[in-house]
Amino acid sequence: MERSPAAAREGSAAAHEAAERPAAEGEEESDGDGCGGLWALPVESCARRPECDRCSRPQKVCLCPFLPVHPLKVSTCLYIIQHPAEESRVLRTVPLLAACLPQDKCKVLIGRRFSEDRYPELAAVCRNSNTLILYPGAEAANLEEMALHPSGPSVIIIIDGTWSQAKDIFYKNSLFRLPKQDRMQNSQCSESPRSSRAPFSTSPVQLETNISSQYVIRTQPTNRCLSTLECAATALAIMEKNDAIQETILRPLQALCSFQLQHGAQIHHSKEHLLKNGLYDKPMPKNKRKLRRMELLVNNVKI
Ligand SMILES: [Zn+2]
Repeated sequence: MERSPAAAREGSAAAHEAAERPAAEGEEESDGDGCGGLWALPVESCARRPECDRCSRPQKVCLCPFLPVHPLKVSTCLYIIQHPAEESRVLRTVPLLAACLPQDKCKVLIGRRFSEDRYPELAAVCRNSNTLILYPGAEAANLEEMALHPSGPSVIIIIDGTWSQAKDIFYKNSLFRLPKQDRMQNSQCSESPRSSRAPFSTSPVQLETNISSQYVIRTQPTNRCLSTLECAATALAIMEKNDAIQETILRPLQALCSFQLQHGAQIHHSKEHLLKNGLYDKPMPKNKRKLRRMELLVNNVKI
């Protein structure tokens, strides 16, 4: 989320804005029944190039040589809440992130609605006072400050999707916005004296660093918006107090971008860069709210 520089502040935590694609309502509910028997049709063998089991890249452009030999040892667990539209993108970063980490430290849940009934494990995680969600905004705390506490957070939730998708997921799933009091009452620390309670139930948090995204083959709203993989790498380095983690996780992303650029991909400047330099060549949005956001981008206003 994906993703403070502002990253976070401006939005990105895992929320990238690349071509926004409208997702069909109820997409996550689909189990194939609505496809009118299409599943019975023979699948063309060349429909999709064979993928590497570990990095999920086509085998010919496997990025495994850039992944750590063994999964990184981390104590923080990541929950990636992935919008269904992200899963089908060709250049996605979450499989690379997952390949860098032990399976039990990077859990990917795909969908848009997460009810307590259908996702009891996630609900329990959300109620735990040591869980944070990376979602930038005026109320978000700086992750770096949270990490200083001795019994720091142990789980970080990151939303993987475009800005509008992430916003939709964050605001339409009450699990991710449990009020502080609820969290306190239900957390594992609820029986301990108030003074000993960890102050982590106030999520959301954001990354307040100044690094620029290296994911240059996908358009981001601003230079400081990070991809989900970059957000995760930065957050883990902060939580684990180990900058090498960030370097290791970013390596396959750098390799991916470098390969794509060598094979004809164009550097995608951020929308902010294009607008400021008069290079934005798409029609301006008709939607007034979107137009306003673009004006704010040009004028360096934090959005
Ligand atoms: Zn591979």
